[in-house]
Amino acid sequence: MNPSSESIPKPLLATGQGQTLYPLLQQLNESQWWSADKLVTAQLQQFKKLIVYATSHSKFYRQHLAGIDVTSLDLESLHNIPILTRAQLQRNNEIIDCDPLPEAHGRVTESMTSGSTGFPVKFRTTALTSTVWNAINMREQLWHDREFDKVSASIRWRGDAIGLPPNGVEFEDWGLPASLFRKSGRGYFLNSSADIPAQISWLQKLQPSYLMTHPSNLRALMAQLRSDETTLQGLLEVRTVGESINDELQVDVAEQFNAKLVDLYSSEELGYMAIQCPVQTHYHVQSESVLLEVLREDGSACERNEPGRIVVTSLRNYATPLIRYEIGDYGELAEPCSCGRGLPVLKTIHGRVRNMLRHPDGSTRWPNFGFREFMQVAPLRQFQIVQHSLDEIELKVVVDQRLTEEQEARIKDILKENLGHPFAVKLSYHAALPRSASGKFEDFVSMLSN
Ligand SMILES: [Zn+2]
Repeated sequence: MNPSSESIPKPLLATGQGQTLYPLLQQLNESQWWSADKLVTAQLQQFKKLIVYATSHSKFYRQHLAGIDVTSLDLESLHNIPILTRAQLQRNNEIIDCDPLPEAHGRVTESMTSGSTGFPVKFRTTALTSTVWNAINMREQLWHDREFDKVSASIRWRGDAIGLPPNGVEFEDWGLPASLFRKSGRGYFLNSSADIPAQISWLQKLQPSYLMTHPSNLRALMAQLRSDETTLQGLLEVRTVGESINDELQVDVAEQFNAKLVDLYSSEELGYMAIQCPVQTHYHVQSESVLLEVLREDGSACERNEPGRIVVTSLRNYATPLIRYEIGDYGELAEPCSCGRGLPVLKTIHGRVRNMLRHPDGSTRWPNFGFREFMQVAPLRQFQIVQHSLDEIELKVVVDQRLTEEQEARIKDILKENLGHPFAVKLSYHAALPRSASGKFEDFVSMLSN
């Protein structure tokens, strides 16, 4: 008997998707309390099945994994299985899919990543993968004990003209999967291409209890609200997605909105990889859907609290198998969680290698900037830090009013102190700081990583 077996709501309808999801949600409710060893054993079984299927039904994997014996696969021998890079996935995009698929995996959907690196890839998913992803989405809602009758709003990027201001799009409920289990409140969507004042008017009109958005958009909203000396009433929680966050943002959201910040780690091609623990600020890897490894440059596994590259296997997707796929992010695993769940703890997600600062002595780190301290000196609408060379840093800012010399000097000092080295800092003024093709925004970009 686990502590939360009573908490899974019954589906509202006697037939349909809710009935398909319900048994899976019950399973997830059990497996989250399994020991780490039991979870790994179950994952390795799934992993072997996937490899066997992929090597017999995908032209790419037949070659890529030729000679790999999975009969005695364990965590150690996992490292003999080659990593799949994004470039390899792209080059082999036409021959990687499995054909045919097990009938039970259901209907196939074809998608394309929006390509934050500028190289979109095609991938397919099945009805089974979408059921698993929906179940994890619902698990996340239940972990965070959301009040489903409240209003929920989302401001997210999309590359088209849907959801523009002043109205955005209105939905009669929160949508799938929540609406299958609970009578939910109204849902609203606004395209994040809307300018910040338009976003604020929209939010102030709707007064949502829940807001989902990208961290960079959230920061811009918070800066504008602060400079307008106003706030958002009634916000219970802000959920962030799509970019990495740091501890500062957590503290700021609590201070400015008296609300909780909850972050999600997901990608278009792998679904939910890790969701935030209900009682801690770190993440739990979604081991029932993915096998997530953190590796050193030489391919060996990192110790706990040692940053390394994140490599993920999607255990349930046979349509476009992603086996030890290097997603491009860096992260750190940590000690088991005090909540008692056996799902591994992912302490931090650092973003990409181009988000890493390099000091003149060659050492690297994911930088802190002192954003909160900047804001005490002057109201910055938006900022971005670019490392041009080993000793040159550019701080790009968007402001309503040019800073005084004293403010500029103060902000440069704060930045140098937080970066941990007396870099030559140049400050430049911009009307706006654009996003990447996929709508992502990076606070820190290094030109040294290429
Ligand atoms: Zn936990």
